Amino acid sequence: MALAEAVRGVLAEARVRLVAEGSPPPDVAALLDEAARRLRDRERETLFRVINATGVVIHTNLGRAPLASEAMAAMSVAAGYANLEMDLGGGRRSSRHDHLDGLIADVTGADGGLAVNNGAGAVLLALAALAADAPVIVSRGELIEIGGGFRVPDIVAQSGARLIEIGATNITHLKDYELAVREHAEARVILRTHPSNFRITGFTSAPPLAELAAFAHARGLLLVEDLGGGALVDLEPFGITGEPMVQESLNAGVDLVIFSGDKLLGGPQAGVLAGRRELLDAVARHPLARALRLDKLSLAALAATLRLYRPPTDPIARVPVLHMLTQTLATIAARAAALAALIADVDGLDAEVVETDSYAGGGAMPMQALPSRAMALRSDRIGSEDLARRLRAGTTPVVGRIERDRVMLDLRTVADAELPALAGKIRSSARR
Ligand SMILES: *Cc1c(COP(=O)(O)O)cnc(C)c1O
Repeated sequence: MALAEAVRGVLAEARVRLVAEGSPPPDVAALLDEAARRLRDRERETLFRVINATGVVIHTNLGRAPLASEAMAAMSVAAGYANLEMDLGGGRRSSRHDHLDGLIADVTGADGGLAVNNGAGAVLLALAALAADAPVIVSRGELIEIGGGFRVPDIVAQSGARLIEIGATNITHLKDYELAVREHAEARVILRTHPSNFRITGFTSAPPLAELAAFAHARGLLLVEDLGGGALVDLEPFGITGEPMVQESLNAGVDLVIFSGDKLLGGPQAGVLAGRRELLDAVARHPLARALRLDKLSLAALAATLRLYRPPTDPIARVPVLHMLTQTLATIAARAAALAALIADVDGLDAEVVETDSYAGGGAMPMQALPSRAMALRSDRIGSEDLARRLRAGTTPVVGRIERDRVMLDLRTVADAELPALAGKIRSSARR
């Protein structure tokens, strides 16, 4: 079964290449070697490269952000011995944070920054370093759960800080903050969180960030913001609204901004903290900073990703997450048409390009459907559940979704370079 699957997959892809690219026919020995290699891989590994045809760009179950090639290259450099914590000039010990601090300053406008293992860890660390044993003031509209067990009240409790809830779910006024500060004179931090994966609509309000920052500073408090997604470029010109930018928060006066490395930033799993120097120093000195520290591979990938945000590089062109989010419908439609041509001759397969909606995922822009195109597949011979299962099986797993008894493959999240493999997989899955 697995053997047949591996051979079929290799043959189907070779056939697509032959027809699409007019490449010379491959020899039988090479095809057999390739099939044997895939079979061995499939038996030994549990983690595979997957073709994401879900249309969800930041897909948590598929590893969130796919990295830019620059980030992948940086990871392979760091995989060996590397000057992670060595100043090569003086031959002395340095800090791993040195590789990120200046870059984060460059791209955000903050004094500097550091990164830990993930966003949740960064929030925990910030509160532990800046507010342990002290009250932390949070609006009830921001006591969110992100998924995967991250709940703001739990993180506050774990940090050793004391949660002071204020306002109502939909409305929090500045005077609610005022009252809380009066009641809790020892309060050090106001925490603001971005409601990533849901929206409260209708009769809602919260003080503008700049007003809240001015209020906090006038009373000697810090304003810390957990942004979640962490966009560094304005996506509004591409019709993507509602995701706050890191720079805007810092400009509004937020003292410390926290965001994930593998959401809208499009880098590796990490939690980035950007803000005022003395706060970063306090955070870096805390024992949890060591427990949550970023490993060298992620650090290398994060630095390489951040570099793509520095002029003259255009991050929209270089960072895959941004590229996929901002593609024109015409580009996606052309990819769908190219796939249609590659599978037009598959027997017993009904394949039609249809309109669909993609989503950013990763808690970003939950309500915003991005118009896209999908290949809708139905087989004469096997049911849609079965077809979807076959697409996910074997080498080169393809993950789509089922809608109205058809397997939908959204082309927004498929790269052009993946089309031959995708077509080959469809071809081998539709047999019998
Ligand atoms: C995603 C998210 C987190 C958690 O970040 P991870 O990098 O997944 O740990 C925290 N806060 C907000 C607002 C988020 O959207």
